[in-house]
Amino acid sequence: MRQKAVKSSVKPMDPLEKHFNEVIKLIGEDPEREGLIETPKRIAKMYREIFSGLKEDPAEVLGKTFPSEGTNDIVIVQDIPFYSVCEHHFVPFFGKVHIGYIPEDRIVGLSKFARLVEILSRRPQVQERITNQIVETLEEVIHPVGAIAIIEAEHMCMTMRGIKKPGSKTRTIARRGVFASDGGVQEQRFFRLLER
Ligand SMILES: [Zn+2]
Repeated sequence: MRQKAVKSSVKPMDPLEKHFNEVIKLIGEDPEREGLIETPKRIAKMYREIFSGLKEDPAEVLGKTFPSEGTNDIVIVQDIPFYSVCEHHFVPFFGKVHIGYIPEDRIVGLSKFARLVEILSRRPQVQERITNQIVETLEEVIHPVGAIAIIEAEHMCMTMRGIKKPGSKTRTIARRGVFASDGGVQEQRFFRLLER
């Protein structure tokens, strides 16, 4: 008992934690119950992590770019895993991202693509927007001949609630430059290369 009193006399609760405490009450649960006592604190910590992308600039994340040194064909980074949060329901959606681009005169360090995807995912999002933001950021930073991104994802708001369609995947695509303007030639190549 004494321990509990000491604990509750510590500095005022973090506002995020306090609000989750309220949410627990409002759904009809008891935030003082043993299993839930630390839950608001854990959720607050987790929220700061899964929404940390809001404080970062995707263009800056691509960071230092390099001269293309004659690379004028398609570069593909495939199967980048991502976890994001649907902004309509605040539940996760997750899956894989495939990115392709054809450099003009600059290229991006390959590991930067995973960082880019991470930063865009760690925000309240919709899948369509992440897909567009990937190609937009590439366009802004290196002005490629073309850029394309595909995301395949499963949305928990479709599988654990509402229409409940487990296993259904949503696929989105965004194209810029030659991928949007050459009648599908480069896009077809991108798909063929992905399938290998
Ligand atoms: Zn949703």
